[in-house]
Amino acid sequence: MSAPTFHVRLLRKWSFEVDAEKCQQCGTCISACPNKALGWGNANLPQTISPENCCGCALCKDSCPHHSACSIQSNCG
Ligand code: SF4
Ligand code: SF4
Repeated sequence: MSAPTFHVRLLRKWSFEVDAEKCQQCGTCISACPNKALGWGNANLPQTISPENCCGCALCKDSCPHHSACSIQSNCG
């Protein structure tokens, strides 16, 4: 008899938000993401390109040299 299998569904979603007025388009946040969840979006601003890869670690936010230019938010649901 084979072992039972379980499927885990992650309910917590994360979103990356950028303040267009503060962002200097340095790309540090994109480089800091270990999961390649960020990339360049419209207006040459960083945005989430692979939301399924984001684990909410906040390394992007913590790496930003222009404080408060970006944030990572949890959207449970
Ligand atoms: S929270 Fe972590 S995984 Fe998500 S975009 Fe930022 S650095 Fe990448
Ligand atoms: S690290 Fe900060 S300033 Fe640099 S691109 Fe990302 S949000 Fe903009």
